[in-house]
Amino acid sequence: MKLPQKLAIGFILGIVAGLIFQFTGWNAKVLQPFGDLFIRLIRMVVVPLVVSSLIAGAAGMSDAAKFGRVAIKIIGYYFFTTAVAVTLGLIVANVVHPGLGVTLSTEGLKVKEVTPPSMVQTLLNIVPINPIEAMAKGELLPMIFFAIIFGFALSSLGEVGQPVLNFFDIVMNTMIKVTGYVMEYAPFGVFALIAVTVGVHGIGVLLPLLKLIIVMYLVALLHIVIVYTPFITIVGKLRPVTFFRGVAEPLLVAFTTCSSAAALPLNMRAVERLGVPKSISSFTIPLGNTINMDGASIYLGIASIFISEVFGMHLGLNQQLTIILMAILASVGSVGVPGAALIVMTMVFQSVGLPIEGIALVAGVDRILDMARTPLNILGDATGALVVAQSEGELVKPETKVSM
Ligand code: ASP
Repeated sequence: MKLPQKLAIGFILGIVAGLIFQFTGWNAKVLQPFGDLFIRLIRMVVVPLVVSSLIAGAAGMSDAAKFGRVAIKIIGYYFFTTAVAVTLGLIVANVVHPGLGVTLSTEGLKVKEVTPPSMVQTLLNIVPINPIEAMAKGELLPMIFFAIIFGFALSSLGEVGQPVLNFFDIVMNTMIKVTGYVMEYAPFGVFALIAVTVGVHGIGVLLPLLKLIIVMYLVALLHIVIVYTPFITIVGKLRPVTFFRGVAEPLLVAFTTCSSAAALPLNMRAVERLGVPKSISSFTIPLGNTINMDGASIYLGIASIFISEVFGMHLGLNQQLTIILMAILASVGSVGVPGAALIVMTMVFQSVGLPIEGIALVAGVDRILDMARTPLNILGDATGALVVAQSEGELVKPETKVSM
């Protein structure tokens, strides 16, 4: 049986098990360690895989002008789609009013305030003081920065640098193998994660916030249809079916783990199978993983309107424009772990004077909302990699690619 089928079976059995937990009242949390094990295994792959493939990729690119072009295109694409995502969330929420008529008590709710680092500091933080520390902490942006410079320097050494380049190439291929091993466990991980989610989220918890949940899923779908699909077909020149089938694995893992950092290795593997060369995927996918979060941005827009309505406040045009700007910054500043959007939400709320206790109101169902956000965060990166590879004339037709 192929992996996607096994994953699908794990997923369906997980739902069934979750429902059994719910109706019998047993504690679904007993399965949590099996899900956590999967997340740990797959996150274990990220740092060595990203560092080795970035170094090998940058060294393979060796043309700084081309690299600059790829960087500008992908960053432009990421910011553009993020801005569209939050705007779409705001527009739909303004029309649908997910928070009107919702009464929820905020008594006893507390949220920790987060002060955002200054813009200058954020930019400075891209440069690691100690690259090994950045790797040890799994900080992707400084890691990307160092690995690219290292890769370029390595390729400038020519023949002399070849053994080190070979070394990183071998490390990368080893990590690709390790990813394969980890995925053998994936169906069990998916089963456990879904069973816990379904098991602990009874309909009673979901009902008061049902409209919010529906709006989130609706806008996520809308974003796929009006933003990604045209990019995939018109710029990427791929049939949507081919593309979505190709990224099914990382999407499912993102959906069940709610961690785009965990889905990163699979996303790289998926776009490479779709024909994106390693020199482009090794840079665009990890970069997107940290700075591009369309799903989170959509949610920041929707949640702002939702909370303003619950608290009977009105957000004017200026405030909504501020939300767009803040959501872009939040998308850059958040990491791909479950619930990350809730943390950066304090930043957004503070900037427009929304009560941050509001965040606690939606926190209870965040897992369900995160299941819509995370796949979208991943999808945005995959689409970006495809679009840039095609625009560089470097996309290899999937049919002609040898499978890994
Ligand atoms: N869980 C999301 C991710 O890993 C982040 C978020 O939207 O909360 O990409």
